[in-house]
Amino acid sequence: MSEDAAAHILTKRNIGIMAHIDAGKTTVSERILYYTGKGYKLGSVDEGTATMDWDPEEQARGITIHAAGTTCYWRGHEINIIDTPGHVDFTAEVERSLRVLDGAVAVFCGVGGVQAQTETVWHQAEKYHVPRIAFINKLDRVGSDFFRVIEEMEKQLGAYPIPLQIPIGKEEGFKGAVDLLRMVARTYNEEDNGVTFVEFEIPAEMKSDAEHWREHIIELLAERVDSVMEKWVHDHKSLTEEDLRVGIRQGTLSGKITPVLCGSAFRNKGVQALLDAVVDYLPSPLDMPPVKGTHPKSGDEITRKPSNDEPFAALAFKIQADQHGELTFMRVYSGTIKTGERVYNPNVDKKEMIQRIWRMHANTREKIETAETGDIVAVVGLKETITGHTLCPTHKPILLEKLVFPQTVIHMAIEPKSTSDKDKLANVLRVLSREDPTFAWHVDGDTGQIIISGMGELHLEVLKNRMLRDFNVAANVGKPKVTYKETIKKAVKDVEGRFIRQTGGHGQYAVVFIDIEPFTSDQPVVFENKIRHGTVPKEYIPAVEEGILTTASGGGTSGYPLVNVKVTLTDGKFHEVDSSDIAFSAAAAIALREAVQRAGIKLLEPLMRVEAVTPEEFMGDVIADLMSRRATIREVVQRGPVRVIHCFVPLAEMFGYSTTLRSLSQGRASYTMEPHDFVDVPPNLYDSLLA
Ligand code: GDP
Repeated sequence: MSEDAAAHILTKRNIGIMAHIDAGKTTVSERILYYTGKGYKLGSVDEGTATMDWDPEEQARGITIHAAGTTCYWRGHEINIIDTPGHVDFTAEVERSLRVLDGAVAVFCGVGGVQAQTETVWHQAEKYHVPRIAFINKLDRVGSDFFRVIEEMEKQLGAYPIPLQIPIGKEEGFKGAVDLLRMVARTYNEEDNGVTFVEFEIPAEMKSDAEHWREHIIELLAERVDSVMEKWVHDHKSLTEEDLRVGIRQGTLSGKITPVLCGSAFRNKGVQALLDAVVDYLPSPLDMPPVKGTHPKSGDEITRKPSNDEPFAALAFKIQADQHGELTFMRVYSGTIKTGERVYNPNVDKKEMIQRIWRMHANTREKIETAETGDIVAVVGLKETITGHTLCPTHKPILLEKLVFPQTVIHMAIEPKSTSDKDKLANVLRVLSREDPTFAWHVDGDTGQIIISGMGELHLEVLKNRMLRDFNVAANVGKPKVTYKETIKKAVKDVEGRFIRQTGGHGQYAVVFIDIEPFTSDQPVVFENKIRHGTVPKEYIPAVEEGILTTASGGGTSGYPLVNVKVTLTDGKFHEVDSSDIAFSAAAAIALREAVQRAGIKLLEPLMRVEAVTPEEFMGDVIADLMSRRATIREVVQRGPVRVIHCFVPLAEMFGYSTTLRSLSQGRASYTMEPHDFVDVPPNLYDSLLA
């Protein structure tokens, strides 16, 4: 790759903003887009007079901060902000965004500090080795305390926070911060929404504090970052500001330290310094290790280095519909791609055409001709590609590690209030299920009700709100219920299904013979046709399959969907005149029901993988409570000052868990869960489920 190309990629930052709900993620994102916006000229620091004639809130309304990826520019760097969901219930969503971003800004509330949810997201980021910087927000609020939050980060997160600033003023008097690297004070001008700021000598009463915290930076770096340690040992005094910056960057990238900044996004203070830190300390795509994948045919492992010289490899991470149609957001890991080029999607073995490439900005979009390594862009023209698919050249294929979306485990009924709502709902459901691969819906065969299903209570709640509020559909919704399934106990052979009505006029005639057996694959029920000699003519085979699959999804015998079964059509009989699709479909349904009855059924329930994070003192109570919920504890590990309990718990036992966990731990413990598998329901619970 040419030096120019590499230098250009070095200026990219792909970041997510993560926070506890209400900590200020939205406000911080808006302010970032505001200060980086192209719509105004930045008044110089010395002038300190440039005024803005519009208000950030107003500007914010035009901003598409909910785009899956938004690009903005700061100090000649291109910052892509990737939307991360604020809810921990659907970790699949969080993890998917962690896959495509390189670094993150963790926003903390200066009053609330480290809250349960922050811990969860923090640990997830840790698991994926995502370097972070922290922004302690809301320092204008009564009760806020920068240093207390730092302490909580150490104690509760086991982090090594390294404040790069200390606040000037407290609560209502909060004005700005002392920059501990440059050792200057900065306050933000209120008249222009903090677009300009003034810098001056550190006030006398803050000097010794500033010295103390600067020394703290040096000590922590010397302890945790090799390059700084070496210099420090040789000659403490020779450490320059540049050495410290390099050390902070190295420490951040390796996850050994977390730089901390302070501010009040709402009062327009501190966001520019945060942007500086994003540029200075978070990784560029070239800092990332090669992305791993496999050859779609041979399965051999392949890697692609982050370089424009490598073959193109990208991951589609979000489908988002907007007024201009459907956009596929992708992260380019290697190589380049141009408008008009064809790409290969190995997940579905199809070629796709890149019709347009957009770079999405706050309130505009920019058509670009080429996307390169490290880019986050939205493309138009992909028909078969959905979230989690890889795009690559046909002659250099690679299958990037799939984003795995588990089967849905919880469902609820939704009933539109009027016919027009029904039509609207049908559209909304289609849009939402394309956008979110962890969401599904179907119409119940028996009741005609629309059933939506997802990954957890909160997930359904969010989806419900989007339908009712964002899309204005009037509907009644039922209570969320656990999704149970059934499977067969053993294989049975040669089960006959007959559907014969031949009393006068045009009759119905179909006979089929099937085998069924337990069978695990990525489909709930697999159908195989082994008909020889046309005993069931070819044209009726799809009707047989349809009869089997519809009956299976509506419940074999218990009313729960049938899974992990293979059905083989082995033989049959037909009539020249009276046979029809309907007759064969009905015969197949009869055969399947009979076969399932003979095989005997087992009920399956969703088992969740639960990770509970608790301070040590509550561990006993938390474990005891989990055991009473039929949990299987896998392991308990120490992570800094907290214990992480890894276990499996049936979803049916997890309703109301967040409230219990909060009360068991004075609000300090947190948990995440995600679907793991469907497993046997203990037979002593059958009665209540089948009643
Ligand atoms: P999110 O849920 O993390 O996206 O949080 P929001 O950005 O929506 O902020 C939640 C609330 O806190 C809103 O009412 C904001 O106006 C307010 N807020 C955000 N940042 C600050 C801040 O720095 N100071 C104060 N006082 N309020 C803030």
